Amino acid sequence: MAQHPITLIGGGLVGALLAQQLAQRGFAVDVFEKRPDPRHAGFLGRSSASCAPGTRPSMDSGSRSINLALAERGLHALRSTGLADAVLQRAVMMRGRMVHDRDGQHGLQPYGIDDSEVIWSVSRGALNMLLLDAAEAAGARFHFGQALTTVDFDRQRLRLADADGVERDLPAGLLIGADGAGSALRAAMNAHTPLGERVEPLGHGYKELEIPPASELPAAVLQANDGRDGFALEPNALHIWPRGSYMCIALPNTERSFTVTLFLPGKGRAPSFATLPDAAAAATFFTEQFPGLLPLMPRFAEDFEHNPVGTLSTLYLQRWHLDGRALLIGDAAHAIVPFHGQGMNCGFEDTVVLANLLAASPDDHAGVFAEFQRQRQPNADAIAHMALENYIEMRDSVADPHYLAKRELGALLAARIPTHYMARYRMVTFTHLPYRYALERGRAQDELLEQLLHENASVAAIDLDAAAQRFRSSLAPLPELRHG
Ligand code: FAD
Repeated sequence: MAQHPITLIGGGLVGALLAQQLAQRGFAVDVFEKRPDPRHAGFLGRSSASCAPGTRPSMDSGSRSINLALAERGLHALRSTGLADAVLQRAVMMRGRMVHDRDGQHGLQPYGIDDSEVIWSVSRGALNMLLLDAAEAAGARFHFGQALTTVDFDRQRLRLADADGVERDLPAGLLIGADGAGSALRAAMNAHTPLGERVEPLGHGYKELEIPPASELPAAVLQANDGRDGFALEPNALHIWPRGSYMCIALPNTERSFTVTLFLPGKGRAPSFATLPDAAAAATFFTEQFPGLLPLMPRFAEDFEHNPVGTLSTLYLQRWHLDGRALLIGDAAHAIVPFHGQGMNCGFEDTVVLANLLAASPDDHAGVFAEFQRQRQPNADAIAHMALENYIEMRDSVADPHYLAKRELGALLAARIPTHYMARYRMVTFTHLPYRYALERGRAQDELLEQLLHENASVAAIDLDAAAQRFRSSLAPLPELRHG
């Protein structure tokens, strides 16, 4: 039986991966994407990387990269569509956080027990292009340079505008919005029937900078760091310069550069983006606060002046769908702050759930959309909460003695009672345990860790047998420890 055609708005990371899966399951999928085809025009994302017409930008083309951390949930979705190996071949492994203190010292805090528990730095542009290729190969049709402007849900028509502003109307089909945090489909749905939208701005913004490959830096600058293999810093780590109310991070790129992101309050007393009006003020701030980092960024002034300050918010919706007519997915439904590196990973998890539900009940759109929201919304809310908490952990706690003591005790218990203790970060990053479970289990475990640290003068003073017994008697065993 012919399935209802699907109209997907947005061919970004989530839209392209969903398009591939729906096409693989036999659906006719048309994707309308606002931007030009990045495989020809260059990736015009948050980076302004571009390439000559007719050539194809690649991960190793030397163009500026904006990267993302890919973890087990995202990888699992890519595995299910046969793309994981191709993506990993173009990714850089990150084994842990390399924490840089104010004195210029640094040390690695590993994420997991071994290289089976690592995250991967991938180029957003290259990943998007790979996903577009895969979706097209599966049969999805892409229409680039086509921005959704409005939807008339009663007449089931949608309106698109091209880059010159020329508009046209089309039948709406079954509408799915993967058009990101500023979703036009969400606005159209909200105008028809309020979705209960709440946007909570973080109040902190971000700016992207770059550390080029070591070959572009003077030898004297490189000596103070553990760079190798052509990278100016240790390549297999996510670097963090935590500074209390703000921080810098750096993720490696396959072309041996690092994308550096400065997270800072947008307004208010120093330091904030408002108190760094130009590159000279910012350079002084970097010299004082992030010793050794500025000399690694020879294009600092240009990047600081040129690159915009991005804003960060969390989006909460009461309703993700308009009966069986339209549904939101990925950032369009649940944009979160990036501090757990899970926005894309969560969106990729969404795609597998939705594709399976639609394939199982292709004619019950209202039922599928409601079930999708029922399954995913509690998890989206949980990762939104944990991502906000992780900002504090990254910018502040990773250098805090109490946090480090808790982490040490956690590691001892994880080795002793793996059936009853797993760090929340590991549950989120290296398993498929629902985010909601990770949040609740993490809270219960944290309470016990706090009790133990409160009752004892140091981690060394804790009777680990008794601590293990307390965990066993207070908590149910973890449901699932590792996933393939
Ligand atoms: P998007 O990637 O925003 O894609 C939306 C697509 O829709 C775009 O292609 C856009 O052009 C198109 N579009 C928009 N409007 C229209 C329209 N009107 N008509 C047609 N098309 C339209 N996540 C991680 O998992 N790990 C990380 O390390 C990580 N780091 C991040 C760092 C930063 C600084 C930020 C801001 C986010 C980070 N994220 C990370 C989150 C991640 O970027 C998002 O969760 C992910 O991009 C969501 O994918 P999406 O396809 O839903 O939306």
